[in-house]
Amino acid sequence: MGLMIPCPHCGPREYTEFTFGGELRELEAPDPQADFERVYLRENLPGPQRERWFHALGCRRWLTLTRDIARNEVLDA
Ligand SMILES: [Zn+2]
Repeated sequence: MGLMIPCPHCGPREYTEFTFGGELRELEAPDPQADFERVYLRENLPGPQRERWFHALGCRRWLTLTRDIARNEVLDA
C-alpha cells in the first residue's frame, strides 16, 4: 500500500487520487528570482516538509499536510 493522505472532506485516500502541489514555503514579496527558486528549485530534504496536495479524484479541493520525506509518512494534516 502506498502513501495514504487524510483528506478532511473524504477521509483517508490513496495518494494516487491526488496531484502533488509542491512544497509549502513562506510567502515573500513579489520577486521573479524568488518565484523561480520556489517553483523549480525545491529543497526536497529528508525530514518533515509542509506540502500542498489537490484531491483531483475526490472532492477537488486543496489541502496542506506535513510529510516526512525520508519515511514517506504523513505526520499531520
Ligand atoms: Zn477529498
